[in-house]
Amino acid sequence: MAKSIRKGTIIDAKQITKQYQTEDIVTKVLHGIDLQVNAGEFLAIMGPSGSGKSTLMHILSFLDSSTDGTYKFQGKDVSHLTSEELANRRNQNIGFVFQSFNLLPRTSVTENVALPLLYSKNKDIPKNAVAKAIKAVGLSHRAENLSNQLSGGEKQRVAIARAIVNNPDIVFADEPTGNLDSKSGNQILKILQDLNKEGRTIIMVTHEQDTADHAKRLIRIRDGLIESDTQIKIRRFAKDGELKK
Ligand code: ADP
Repeated sequence: MAKSIRKGTIIDAKQITKQYQTEDIVTKVLHGIDLQVNAGEFLAIMGPSGSGKSTLMHILSFLDSSTDGTYKFQGKDVSHLTSEELANRRNQNIGFVFQSFNLLPRTSVTENVALPLLYSKNKDIPKNAVAKAIKAVGLSHRAENLSNQLSGGEKQRVAIARAIVNNPDIVFADEPTGNLDSKSGNQILKILQDLNKEGRTIIMVTHEQDTADHAKRLIRIRDGLIESDTQIKIRRFAKDGELKK
């Protein structure tokens, strides 16, 4: 499922703030995040628990909106879109992978992966998109199994297939290996790297340095601000699936 690469800046966020208000308590979570991401990057976001990683991911992936600041996605200002417009954009441009897989239980792999297409307004999705997405994560032989018959690693592979079935430009992954043993976790990282090699932008939250080392760029967040932003030497897998030293 090769992706034609759209060059240029995919994410341009300036002075993003977020505060939550519950009754009379205001919690300030993000204090002015500036972040630019180019198409084709593989970015890892690290930071202590409660530092605002998930909040930032949710804003960047249109699951939530910021309190203040501007957010341009592929050049278009999306800071003030309605929730319906955001949902449409999310469906067309974004894939999201959660730590807890979020599959429908007692539902087949194929049906889980096909789910986003039910809501899609994109008419260009080929008929074999579901089978191709399942193949891309190496689960063709499990296509008709129910999701509760799968291991954790397989479930996360199904979740990735579901995230890419619409052929999105960018995939967000929030602690995608957090619930997995290291072998299954490595398979997930390899798949994310393969998606990135095809030209897709990947943004992944993790609290493990080992996991972040598979990205190309690392930002660290502390207390709602970017503390550091560095290019890193990507750690790749050899053909046999073992980690290269
Ligand atoms: P991280 O992903 O880095 O662990 P989060 O972005 O999940 O951090 O949370 C950052 C802070 O925002 C935490 O202190 C959390 O309690 C608070 N927070 C998150 N969501 C809400 C909410 N809906 N209402 C109030 N506070 C929230």
